[in-house]
Amino acid sequence: MVDWGDQCNTFSFQGARMTPLAPPQVTDHGGGVWSIKVPIPDNPLGHTLVHLLDTGRGPVLIDTGWDDPQSWDTLVAGLAALGIAAADVHGVVITHHHPDHHGLSGRVREVSGAWIAMHAADTEVVVRTRSREPGVWFDYMSEKLATAGAPEEHIAPLRAARASGRMRTLPGLRAAVPDREIVPGELLPLAGRALRAIWTPGHTPGHVCLHLEEAHPGNLPGNGRLFSGDHLLPGISPHIGLYEDPEDERVTDPLGDYLDSLERVGRLRPAEVLPAHQHPFTDAPARVRELLTHHEERLAGLWELLAEPLTPWGLAERMEWNRPWGQIPYGSRHIAVSEAEAHLRWLVKQGRAEAVPDTDPVTYRAV
Ligand SMILES: [Zn+2]
Ligand SMILES: [Zn+2]
Repeated sequence: MVDWGDQCNTFSFQGARMTPLAPPQVTDHGGGVWSIKVPIPDNPLGHTLVHLLDTGRGPVLIDTGWDDPQSWDTLVAGLAALGIAAADVHGVVITHHHPDHHGLSGRVREVSGAWIAMHAADTEVVVRTRSREPGVWFDYMSEKLATAGAPEEHIAPLRAARASGRMRTLPGLRAAVPDREIVPGELLPLAGRALRAIWTPGHTPGHVCLHLEEAHPGNLPGNGRLFSGDHLLPGISPHIGLYEDPEDERVTDPLGDYLDSLERVGRLRPAEVLPAHQHPFTDAPARVRELLTHHEERLAGLWELLAEPLTPWGLAERMEWNRPWGQIPYGSRHIAVSEAEAHLRWLVKQGRAEAVPDTDPVTYRAV
């Protein structure tokens, strides 16, 4: 199998001369597409791959990176290495609202006047998060954790922070409100480029992949290239939890959404996938099958655990993570329990698990 990722050279451009491997790391993917490795501070993921697409109206970014001075400097240096000033950016297309993707969008717009486009479901999350009092979020989390069966000693620090008014600023309070909508299934209005939005909810309600419907510059077989955001990554399975939102009463099924979205991008058969983390890869259908198998096995394992009635918290404690439960940091346990809830919700929807009547907090058992 050809690994196009290994064939992409890392260059920094200085006039007509190319100097290999000097930071900032800019990769030329051919056909008017580049990526810049923008660091995410204190995060095991390491960096976001911000993609740049040359269009007839100027450069367009796909995602922007984490809102941090070092990340901003890296993005600006990466653009400069390509002979582009941040002020020249024409537009910003966002795969999803998470801060490692959308964090610097506001700053890019400030210096360039660029538009920012996002799917309506994620724009809704941005707008709600900005207008929210931190206290509302703390109350919501405390109640949600209690309902999920979290022990009191886990919830106590949240209640204490709420009572004292010492609530750290929540991420996303200053996220930029997009000014354009990405409409699923439609071509984005980009001069000279054929970039189609594919709605891929699951990791977030408004996650989109972007399908560049142009022949692969290296003539790899398949249908163009796919900017996959966090939806399809070569070596990690994205977090699928509940779409946490205090003001949203809808009962959603993020795992069901994700599994459907995976099949949708597999059917596109892109020649190459350009994800927002790690590295480019080929054979998207094979990666989709791996992820579907991973989730099938995980769901089967959870179904077995539910031979004994468990709360979502109890289930999270017994699930397999990348380290023993006792070593999972406090904040990451919230993410873990949210993931357990998303899996439970799917099992209940499929008729493979049910709530045990008259339990408080509610426990679930296999059917
Ligand atoms: Zn994400
Ligand atoms: Zn990400």
